[in-house]
Amino acid sequence: MVRIEEHKHLTENKPIEQAALPRRVVIPLVQHLGKRLDRVFVKAQDHVRRGDCLATSDKGVFAPVHASISGTVKQVADFPHPVFGFCRAIEIESDGKDEAAESMKPRTAGEIASLTAADIRTIVFESGIVGLGGATFPTHIKLAPARPIKDFIVNGAECEPYLTADSRLMIERSLQIIEGVKLVARTIQPENVFIAIEDNKPQAIRRMKEAAGSLGWHVVVLKTAYPQGGEKQVIKSCLRREVPPGKLPFDIGVLVQNVGTVFAVYEAVYFRKPLYERVMTVSGACLENPKNLLARLGTPVKDLLEQCGPMTREPKRIIMGGPMMGIAQFTPEAPVIKGTSGILALDEDEEKEQEESFCVRCGQCVENCPIGLNPGLIALAIAKGRLDLAQEYGIMDCIECGLCAYLCPGRRHIVQAIKAAKIKIRKGKTT
Ligand code: SF4
Ligand code: SF4
Repeated sequence: MVRIEEHKHLTENKPIEQAALPRRVVIPLVQHLGKRLDRVFVKAQDHVRRGDCLATSDKGVFAPVHASISGTVKQVADFPHPVFGFCRAIEIESDGKDEAAESMKPRTAGEIASLTAADIRTIVFESGIVGLGGATFPTHIKLAPARPIKDFIVNGAECEPYLTADSRLMIERSLQIIEGVKLVARTIQPENVFIAIEDNKPQAIRRMKEAAGSLGWHVVVLKTAYPQGGEKQVIKSCLRREVPPGKLPFDIGVLVQNVGTVFAVYEAVYFRKPLYERVMTVSGACLENPKNLLARLGTPVKDLLEQCGPMTREPKRIIMGGPMMGIAQFTPEAPVIKGTSGILALDEDEEKEQEESFCVRCGQCVENCPIGLNPGLIALAIAKGRLDLAQEYGIMDCIECGLCAYLCPGRRHIVQAIKAAKIKIRKGKTT
């Protein structure tokens, strides 16, 4: 792990602001790791309210999606998607009223106290909650592990440069996060609870320590380094244990949940609120007023950039997520989705286009890969069309942190090659 330029000063002291109500939203049928939703409950001209369930599926790995505004469904069609290029989605035009679904009523303290573990899992599923740190794996599945969970880690590391949404959430909603942690702990019954935060967030550390009070949980202060927030890294830092290659945290009795996810669980249980909005950082040198915004899912990226403008210069690149693991956008019309932790408008200096040259065998990538892979060798195997060899070298364990490409003096596009090769491998092509 290495220390990289943080750029967090742009927004770390900016309180979370509610973004303007969008005039229109586009709700993609894939906002989770898993299959596309195939049961769509609405059609053109239907009226929907904020929080209404729009689509789900019957089996497989998925999380339902909900309306983020009230208004009229315009169409169900293909729209730009921030990850997949294009994807089937539901377009809703706002009626300006922002009416909530009738089901969205707070639960009483008595109702919350009487919820069983199975009830909480059902609420999490019906609310469409996924991992908000970027992985977007459906949370209800993680809350039903096949083996006992000994250690539950709440991940507040937020190691990606520029992003401060989790940090602000911990500063401003620490008590609610703690309630969310209690709910998750009720479902999985861990022996230990850890709240992991990097040492560049002293305010968040203080607030979380105060909020956790005498619960007996451990607030662990991690050294600021990239990619400290990766699941496997946070486990290693908190527990001094390693997740073996090809295995998942639950294989060693560990559950990791991002702080934003835990907060979403709190809102779902306490207020019957589905996941239709989230906090995201909108930042970069091209924006005069970078902010942390609570934005409705489905809002076009350009609307949120406008709210943080004016633009001081033409962005070289617009990225959804952080600069290390985020995805460059081909259109500002793409909507923000459940996994959107940030939007960055980066200028020439922040986003230099680097000519790729040859490998000088410096060993930087091998020395710094947090998983212990040999990225240069994997890239070579990919270049030679030997995906079988790339698999032997452990390509599927790569967490796509981008550190190898960031450090490479030859500016090798290693992580891009790895991402593309992993997609091919998942589709069953090995050469
Ligand atoms: S090979 Fe993967 S895990 Fe290793 S540094 Fe490169 S992107 Fe990160
Ligand atoms: S960091 Fe780049 S130049 Fe150095 S060994 Fe790895 S691929 Fe080669």
